[in-house]
Amino acid sequence: MHVNIVGAGIIGLATAFELSSRGHTVCIIDPSPGQGASHAAAGMLAPAAETVWGQGPLHQMLAASNKSYPDFVNRIQAISGQRPDYLTSSTLVVAAEPADREALHELVELQTSLGLSAQKLLPSQARNLEPALARNIAGAVLCEDDHQIDPRSVVRILLEYFQSDLVLEQCVEVIKDDKNQTTAVLTSSGTRLEAEQTILCTALGTVRGVQPAPVRPVYGDILRIQGPPGPALVTRIIRGIVHRENVYLVPRKDGSLVLGASVREDGNPQVNVGAMYNLLDNARRLVPGISDCSLNEVIARARPATADDRPLIGRIDPGLVISTGYSRHGVLLSPLGSTLTADLTENLPASAMLKDVDPHRFPTYSSDTLLEQSS
Ligand SMILES: Cc1cc2nc3c(=O)[nH]c(=O)nc-3n(C[C@H](O)[C@H](O)[C@H](O)COP(=O)(O)OP(=O)(O)OC[C@H]3O[C@@H](n4cnc5c(N)ncnc54)[C@H](O)[C@@H]3O)c2cc1C
Repeated sequence: MHVNIVGAGIIGLATAFELSSRGHTVCIIDPSPGQGASHAAAGMLAPAAETVWGQGPLHQMLAASNKSYPDFVNRIQAISGQRPDYLTSSTLVVAAEPADREALHELVELQTSLGLSAQKLLPSQARNLEPALARNIAGAVLCEDDHQIDPRSVVRILLEYFQSDLVLEQCVEVIKDDKNQTTAVLTSSGTRLEAEQTILCTALGTVRGVQPAPVRPVYGDILRIQGPPGPALVTRIIRGIVHRENVYLVPRKDGSLVLGASVREDGNPQVNVGAMYNLLDNARRLVPGISDCSLNEVIARARPATADDRPLIGRIDPGLVISTGYSRHGVLLSPLGSTLTADLTENLPASAMLKDVDPHRFPTYSSDTLLEQSS
């Protein structure tokens, strides 16, 4: 089967990889591949550290996708000869002030109730693991199964692998036949690309002829900093709760650190100075040594967020599937999301999880789609 994949972020590329592994050919269409949210993401694979109350079936999805990461990475290496930067170094969640300990206790309670791995540590035990932590932290929890990947390495490897299948143009429209089935897409140069199936992995991007998905931009500012030469400042992910605000430091293989991230719904795609100041201030409260780092990069991108944080994976017509709305977990959910999307594209018997990500769970989307289909 030949499949058009619109959007070359981590979701579009992982889906192309999954379909290609199953013997299908792909055409990937994107004017600026890999430059969306996937370019900003810290790449925390943190089903335990990032868990919050009221997420419903998302918990199981995050844990399942996390479990399949080693296999995902091995398979990418097997086809491309290059290994993504995947580090199984665990995560330490740290409360800065005595008042932040309460949030830490709530987190552990939730993690334990969900059967996630979480071990309470005294401040001294946390500092034994990570000596760069401030002396006056209030408590910590070790999440042994929460790891990280550099999403830029996944995107780079897959873009190289699919080089000859890439069309560097915007997809402006989907073309349907007289039975209302998508049969092709039209690109910005007027080129018509036929395919048996088309998958939209456009995050917040829209395409004429398809109802916009119920997603909204949630902006995040994020920094990349470089530690001084010598031993790494920290060796595992440090997620901090500082005056009830979240901040994280993700150490990369090359000695750099990713420091993030703000959460803004102010409609401003530019980097926000106040948000950056806050991140730096909170990170320095936990790890004072970041003051000696140099600044490599500051960027802002939008997370494609849904009302319940669950992605939107569903069939829109017999030739069209969407896979978007991965909110703040798109990197973690790439293995699971791409598998579910590929199953749907191949019309395989539906996995029970597809019900939880069906875009038609949002009533406005369902009714409008039905209207569009019947018109
Ligand atoms: C600051 C920040 C930190 C994050 N940290 C994490 C983290 O630690 N862990 C985690 O799991 N997730 C994290 N996320 C979330 C994660 O980045 C997203 O969920 C994920 O990148 C979504 O991937 P995507 O491929 O759907 O979107 P994107 O990467 O945005 O890709 C969408 C692509 O579609 C293309 N496109 C759009 N419209 C069209 C069109 N009409 N025609 C052709 N192409 C089109 C765009 O050019 C873009 O390349 C973070 C996000 C942010 C912003």
